[in-house]
This record gives sequence, C-alpha cells and structure tokens, in this order.
Amino acid sequence: MRLLDVQALDLRLDQLAHRRRTIPEIAESERLRAERKQLESDMITAETQVTDLTREQRKAEADVEQVRSRRTRDEQRLQAGQVGSPKELESLSHEIESLTRRQSDLEDVELDVMERLETAAARHDELRGQYTALEERIAEVERSRDAAFAGIDAESDQIRRERADTAAGVTDTLLTLYEKLRAQFGGVGAAALRQRRCEGCRMELDASYLTKIASTPDDTVLRCEECGRILVRTLESGV
Ligand SMILES: [Zn+2]
Repeated sequence: MRLLDVQALDLRLDQLAHRRRTIPEIAESERLRAERKQLESDMITAETQVTDLTREQRKAEADVEQVRSRRTRDEQRLQAGQVGSPKELESLSHEIESLTRRQSDLEDVELDVMERLETAAARHDELRGQYTALEERIAEVERSRDAAFAGIDAESDQIRRERADTAAGVTDTLLTLYEKLRAQFGGVGAAALRQRRCEGCRMELDASYLTKIASTPDDTVLRCEECGRILVRTLESGV
C-alpha cells in the first residue's frame, strides 16, 4: 500500500514536470524572441538607410551651394559693371542662365533626398517604438513564466520530500523493481488490484491466478500476469 502512495506521488511529479515543460509562456517567449531578432535586423537596415541618405543629403546640399555661390559671384560681376565687351557680357549671361537651371535641378535632387531621408527616419523611429514595446512584452511573459516555474518547483520540492519519507518505508529491493518497471511501463510500475482487475493494464485477471493469489501470503510481492507490473492487493481486490 505504501508503494502505491509512492506511485501516486511519482505520477504527481511527472505531471508537474510535464506542466513545467509545456506552460504556454515558454512557446510565447520563444516566438517573441524570434520576432525581436527579425526586428533587430530590420532596424539595422533602416539605420543604414538613414546613414546613407544623410550622407547623400549633405552632398546634395554642397552641390547646390557650389553652383549658387558661383552664380552669385557672376551676378556680382555683372552688377558691378566689371564686364566690358559685349561678347564677354553675353557669355556671362549665358553662364548665369545655365547655372540657374543647374541650381534648380540640383535643388530638386536635394528635395528628393530630403523626402527619402524623412521617410527612412520615420520608419526607423517606428521600428524603435515596436522594439521597445516588444521588449516590455518579452519581460512580462518571462516574468509570468518564471513565476509559474517557481510555483511548480515549490510544489515539486514538497512532493519530493513527501515521496522520500514515504519511500523510506519500502524495502530497497521492492523499490528497485518498482523503479525498473516504472521506467519500462510509461511511469506506472505498481498498480492496485481492485474488483479482480489490475489498475495498471485494466485487465481482469483470470480465475486460476486469482485463486493462487488468495493463498499467497500477504507480504509476497505479486506481479500482474497480463502487464508484469507489481500488483498490490487492496481491501476491494475481489479475491
Ligand atoms: Zn496489469
């Protein structure tokens, strides 16, 4: 009977171990961590884009500035009346016209880069926001997971102590046999005999074996003829 108590406690420990392996927070944490990894990679891409476009914008600015200052210089020369010959005057006017067009084109380029930079920066900010929210969610799920672990571990520790006390009353030989059968038969090494039925395999034992059991001393270890588990006689054995 004491061995049946050990068996019940072992099954309880098996259930707790199973629950510890399968709590939903474990899968959830793994899923969120995978999501975070993807997000990290997206953020690197977005950050690289911002860096590249910032450099491109600076170059576009410098290009515009270079043309603008040359045009200003030409205009000042023109206004100052420093140009004498009509031919030189015409050539200077042409250059100013051409510089004006060039400046306008370069300003379009600059504007386009600025727009793209703005979009990239906004995307980067958005990803950073998502990352922060995800970090909080992961921390929350893992806190909940750890709390569940702590609860299960505390309960398991208590049952293990109870199991040790209970097993202390069972002989080593019987306990060794039980452990061996338990490993072999899916966690159940000892079963009760109730209403002529082995509760390990649910089979009803045949009449000749039951007669044999009836004449066997109480302290003899019996085995189920059907499944081989240790069979423990109870008050409702039906023998
Ligand atoms: Zn059986």
